[in-house]
Amino acid sequence: MSDCIFCKIAAGEIPAQKVFEDDSVVAFRDLSPKAPVHVLIVPKKHVASVAAFKAEDKDLAAHIFVDVVPKLADELGVSDAGFRLVINTGDDGGQTVHHLHVHLLGGRKMTWPPG
Ligand code: AMP
Repeated sequence: MSDCIFCKIAAGEIPAQKVFEDDSVVAFRDLSPKAPVHVLIVPKKHVASVAAFKAEDKDLAAHIFVDVVPKLADELGVSDAGFRLVINTGDDGGQTVHHLHVHLLGGRKMTWPPG
């Protein structure tokens, strides 16, 4: 999508502190981190939210959770202590950027409920 900030980051059109990239996914540091480790894992394909996932996105979803999350958590040094994944979805879910992204947060003790 031409006016989507995460599409532009995925395309390299605007800068981001990338920590991972392959053919289908990019991950970069959140501009406004809520924890010592806070990265966003983003499909390069524009998918508005998990609510917009289609059957054709199964491989992409599996790739994010089976391949990318464990690898990144390991590389960012939060595998052993633990980390939190957050996917804000829609207005009530607190989603502000309408391109699917998985927040990976770690490096401190998380509280619950998140508020
Ligand atoms: P959400 O509220 O789940 O939609 O989260 C959007 C996240 O994107 C927020 O945590 C923002 O800080 C982050 N964000 C917005 N623009 C950028 C950007 N250009 N680079 C990195 N992170 C961004």
